Amino acid sequence: MSAVEAGAVAAATSASVVRRVVAGLPAYDPGADPDAVAVLSGAAHVIKLSNNESPFGSSPAVAEAVRGRLDSGVSRYPDPTGRRLAEAVGERLAVPAERVVLGNGSENILELLCQAVLDPGDLVTTQAPGFSLHEIFPRMVGARVEKVPVTEEFGFDPSAWRDALAAGPKLVFLANPCNPTGAMLNVGELAHLVAETPESALLVLDEAYCEFARPDPGYPDGLALLREQHRPWIVLRTFSKAYGLAGVRVGYGVASDTALVQALDRVRAPYNVNQLAQDAAIAALGDHAHLAETVRRTGLEIARVTDGLREAGFRVAPSSANFVFIDTGCRSDWVAQELHRVGIVVKAWREPGYENFIRASLSLPEDNDVFVRCLMRICAKGEQ
Ligand SMILES: *Cc1c(COP(=O)(O)O)cnc(C)c1O
Repeated sequence: MSAVEAGAVAAATSASVVRRVVAGLPAYDPGADPDAVAVLSGAAHVIKLSNNESPFGSSPAVAEAVRGRLDSGVSRYPDPTGRRLAEAVGERLAVPAERVVLGNGSENILELLCQAVLDPGDLVTTQAPGFSLHEIFPRMVGARVEKVPVTEEFGFDPSAWRDALAAGPKLVFLANPCNPTGAMLNVGELAHLVAETPESALLVLDEAYCEFARPDPGYPDGLALLREQHRPWIVLRTFSKAYGLAGVRVGYGVASDTALVQALDRVRAPYNVNQLAQDAAIAALGDHAHLAETVRRTGLEIARVTDGLREAGFRVAPSSANFVFIDTGCRSDWVAQELHRVGIVVKAWREPGYENFIRASLSLPEDNDVFVRCLMRICAKGEQ
């Protein structure tokens, strides 16, 4: 038997054991591989705008902490409770460390929440366009997902949400600011959502981009708002975006009560956050100046690039995050492919109604300028 035949037999055998819901899951789209784009374009410098990463890197204190840990050795398992990091987070947010849960990225916590809370057939409510894992993880455990559309202006639609929440979801996923639009809910909108969410549902507020939105006085303090509620909730944050630690994989959640943390502890792998990630996150949390500078520079670029794109005639969602959602007027797959040819990686959007949109994270000013110029040129030429 040739190697090819052996592979085919193996694939046919394993397909029959895969759960039906898993076989039917949409695949997570991480965007194009930058190495492949480098080869395709011949560009010496690929501009990667596909994953909302920070172009400003992480605090120098992170490298020091990780180096220190490597020097002292990593032959021991990490602290399974992540006590030092949970305490540092708890202290920063004035919540007991017992209500802080850590994850291998906050994505990990999204997955754990689904495993701990959802039974097959349960309903999950989230927003469209949205973060694909807010749909994939619930479906993985057999739950149904209903997506509430945003308004024409990419905003929160209170009446659509009221109707959707009246259907009795078990879990609600909402990102604020939202991904992929970058739009944020204001205090009134978030309060509306909280008031309309049944107390029998777990409300998950995904604040992966909160650091970027916080300078806006209209951005609600989700934790302060939820703290006053007698209902199950969790606020998720991450070190991947503003703290520049996407490669390390560490995020956290603050839960309404310790019972939820204990449930998550039952379903998580005991050492889900590695020791280097715990050390890196503690160091990152301590460097206020680095975070402030990242947020300041990102805000300047968001304003500048949004203005530039709008002047060029593009419709751009108002972003409170570190990326922009752009109506290119052309098929997003085609636009993304043309951008790949010049060494720029963006995410082509494919959700119904948004097939002409791309999401581009912002990078350093010179890279952003190249991106805007190339996008204008490509879209002016149009698909042949
Ligand atoms: C990036 C992102 C996350 C988390 O990413 P991790 O790297 O796993 O912490 C969570 N939610 C949304 C909406 C995101 O965009």
